[in-house]
Amino acid sequence: MKNPNQKIIERIRHLENELYNARRTILSLVSDELQTVVDSYSDCISRQDVSDWQLEVANKVVLFAKIDDTGRTECPLCHSFGSNLYSHGYKVPEGLLRHLTGFGRVNQCPVMRHINGLAREQVDPEARIDLQALKLAVYGT
Ligand SMILES: [Zn+2]
Repeated sequence: MKNPNQKIIERIRHLENELYNARRTILSLVSDELQTVVDSYSDCISRQDVSDWQLEVANKVVLFAKIDDTGRTECPLCHSFGSNLYSHGYKVPEGLLRHLTGFGRVNQCPVMRHINGLAREQVDPEARIDLQALKLAVYGT
C-alpha cells in the first residue's frame, strides 16, 4: 500500500501535467495567424522576457482587431466583448490592451493569462511545484 503522502505528490504531478496540457490545448484553439504571434512565448528565457513578451504580444494582437464604427472590438484571442453594460466591445487600443495585459484592475483575457502561464513556467522553475522540496517537507529526509 502506498504512503498517502506519496499519493498527494503523484496527484500534484498529475494535475500539473493536466494544467500544462489544457494550456497547450487553449493555445491550439487560437487562429493560425495569431498562434504564430502568441507561440513566441517559447523564446522567453527570463522573467523580464516574459513581461516584455506579454506587452509586445498584446500590441500585436491589437493589430488583428476587427474594429466597428464605434472604435470597439471583440478580443481576437478569447472573442469576448467585455462586461461593460453601456458599450459592446473593447475600445481600441486602450481597452483591448488592458484586457490583454490585465492592467488597471481589469480581468485579464483568459487565453492570454494561460499562455502567459506557459511562459512563466518555462522560465521560472518555482512556478511548478518543487517535488524535492515537497518530499523533504512531507518525509523530513
Ligand atoms: Zn480576450
